[in-house]
Amino acid sequence: MFFGLLLGLCFSATAQDAKSVLQSANKAMGDVKSIQYSGSGEFGILGQAYTPGGAWPVNDIKSYTRTIDYGSKSAKEEMTLVEPTPIRKGGGGPFAGEQKQVNLVSGQYAWNQPGNAAQPAVAAAEERQLQIWLTPHGFLKAAMENNATAKKGNGGTVVSFTEGKFKINGTIDSAGMVTKTESWLANPVLGDMPVETTYTAYKDFNGVKFPTMIVQKEGGSPVLQLTVSDVHANSDLALMVPDNVKAAKIPPVNVTNQKLADGVWFLAGGTHNSVLVEFPNYAVMIESPLNDARAAGVMAEAKKLVPEKPIKYLINTHAHFDHLGGVRYFVAEGATVITQDTNKSFYDQAWKAPRTLEPDHLAQSPKKATFVTFKDKYVLSDGGREIDVYRIPGDTHNVVMSLVYLPKEKILVEADDFTPAAPNAPSPGPRSHEGTVLLYRDLQQMKLDVATIAPLHAFVVPFAELQKTASTEVSSASAK
Ligand SMILES: [Zn+2]
Repeated sequence: MFFGLLLGLCFSATAQDAKSVLQSANKAMGDVKSIQYSGSGEFGILGQAYTPGGAWPVNDIKSYTRTIDYGSKSAKEEMTLVEPTPIRKGGGGPFAGEQKQVNLVSGQYAWNQPGNAAQPAVAAAEERQLQIWLTPHGFLKAAMENNATAKKGNGGTVVSFTEGKFKINGTIDSAGMVTKTESWLANPVLGDMPVETTYTAYKDFNGVKFPTMIVQKEGGSPVLQLTVSDVHANSDLALMVPDNVKAAKIPPVNVTNQKLADGVWFLAGGTHNSVLVEFPNYAVMIESPLNDARAAGVMAEAKKLVPEKPIKYLINTHAHFDHLGGVRYFVAEGATVITQDTNKSFYDQAWKAPRTLEPDHLAQSPKKATFVTFKDKYVLSDGGREIDVYRIPGDTHNVVMSLVYLPKEKILVEADDFTPAAPNAPSPGPRSHEGTVLLYRDLQQMKLDVATIAPLHAFVVPFAELQKTASTEVSSASAK
């Protein structure tokens, strides 16, 4: 009790301490209105690990420049990415050659502008705004404006405050340098997902101190590793928010249905698809991608197509977040999750995290998730209907990637290994091609008689399209 009291006194967080710590840090680091830093490094793709629970796969950042104007709460991030050679494992939209990204935010507005046209990025605005306050100078400014408190911590003084809905902590060392910031972002799979950034190897750039090593982790694994080579204080960033960005809103969820066979529907209308299969006494949903909003739309469509039959099973192809983000919704609705054995412990663990930033359907009506897991194959057969789920051997996109096959209807449902391309679409690159070739070979070895492919991205195609892509591109890729 006595010690507790003493500790309480020593370590109590006070606004007064914070103020003096922030003032001396501001002096030590150099006050700036805006900053521009450049370098190169690696870009980790959140939620696209090769192994469930493993590190995010990385692409190489050939060049990187970020300009931030703190007063107008604006930032511009420019980077040129390349996929590493040899071909890496894991997910993340494949591309050929170089990919240029230009990500902007100004106040509440966010957009991307890699070319001439501004593409609204409404959903990214909050995170991009938060990222401004997670930089060393941005942290000090936001802390001073938001009645921060301070306490002793590992490696210095930990200063804490709340900016909007985000709680932000930062560590300031004895030299007055911001060495670490942390906050949390809402994620459909990881809940309140930690965003931790470490700043090391500070150098003096014309009177302004800036770290030359930046590592940002989201969900415990790096999303950005940057070696900073150049820093300019007070460089100009006058962003004009384009009219189409000002007018943009998050588009409503759109779910369309296409009948593939009796009691089998392809549910599309967005970036990710699902397939609904009717059994005599219940229905089965193959894949619940993205998030709660998409899942609710898909569920509503199922209720229209198969009224009065519950969704008894949700089949999940793999643990990538864009294919897993809506699964919790179906758990809340009472569905049992069918997924490969390796995924279960990751799902159990991830779904335990608190969800205070954006409580989803399952957080609001908690239910214990039930699973049916399998190693290589699972057969769901009932009342004359059959669905076979196979782990794809040797898949390079995800270590336990599964495909779904309806033997009677000769329909293949697969994610990410083959995505039919629109005519004249740019080449998706060697990694995509490798996945398609592997899928084609596996299907032949598994002796699956496929007539129709219902892919979980893009549109339904005859099997010949996969055959064509797998063989045509082999020659063009090997000719390079
Ligand atoms: Zn994937």
